[in-house]
Amino acid sequence: MEFKSLLTIKNLHVSIDLGHTVVKAVDGANIDIRENEILGLIGESGSGKSVLGLAILKLLPPNATVDGEVWFDGANLVESSEEEMRRIRGKEIAWIPQDPATSLNPVLKVGFQISEPMVLHTTLDKEQVRQKTISLLDFFDIQPPERRAEEYPYQYSGGMRQRALIAMGTSTNPKLLIADEPTKGVDTPRKAQVAAMFRRIKRENPGLSILLITHDLRFAQALCDRIAVMYCAQIIEVTPAQTFFEAPLHPYSEALLEALPSRGLKQIPGDMPSMITPPGGCRFHPRCRYARPECRHYEPPFSVIDGTLVRCWRYA
Ligand code: SF4
Repeated sequence: MEFKSLLTIKNLHVSIDLGHTVVKAVDGANIDIRENEILGLIGESGSGKSVLGLAILKLLPPNATVDGEVWFDGANLVESSEEEMRRIRGKEIAWIPQDPATSLNPVLKVGFQISEPMVLHTTLDKEQVRQKTISLLDFFDIQPPERRAEEYPYQYSGGMRQRALIAMGTSTNPKLLIADEPTKGVDTPRKAQVAAMFRRIKRENPGLSILLITHDLRFAQALCDRIAVMYCAQIIEVTPAQTFFEAPLHPYSEALLEALPSRGLKQIPGDMPSMITPPGGCRFHPRCRYARPECRHYEPPFSVIDGTLVRCWRYA
């Protein structure tokens, strides 16, 4: 089947200068997000997933340096001006932050905040914006929508704040939605509701692509078409979701799945290495049951095996 790429990341590096040291948070990422897909970017906390997402939209703090290419709609976003990025953010690509508690402005009514991207990026008049805001609140089950539009974030529950942020993100019908850890702090029964909400968003916006940044494998399994695995700042496997959950190739992917309660709750030995001084060779080698001498000294190349991109000496 032919796939069309919506956004292409080429050799992306992100370094964060902490003053006394530099953290390489993304090290040579290459990946594309296809039209109309849900791509899951998974890995343990601290692997660089959120930094990669923030780099796409140039939302990183000033002490971050980004090198490489992010191609979207014929432009390399890494080279784009702040003015161009302001046009793209919220209109073409929407970012759903991971912390609903601090991401809404506490002194502005929620309805006003949801309507803002439409005022900035669409030709809808005042009444049309008001109507769409109410229908978005209704769509995301924030009831009763007319009253809730006039309330402030402190009057919302955590779940409602999260849904309001997603309503804001989808209000301008973006081409790409980047959702950063949407199940963070969400209890297990409510995760199914969040997954159902994303399915509804996809149903209502058939052309939409979603980059789902998550460490929650079950949530990713419920939604994603493809999975990209990140470990210690590097992408190490990209594969169809079904392949990932049935027969992943990379030993780290295998270990992640074995750590699931339904698959034996087997802990991955050791800890995620430091991104300041990552191990030489394959970064996973201190924790890998298949490590061999070359793994300790040489970075593994990428191999393509039956449509799976994998970075491991076992397949080179
Ligand atoms: Fe394990 Fe070696 Fe593969 Fe790294 S390259 S995952 S250490 S087998």
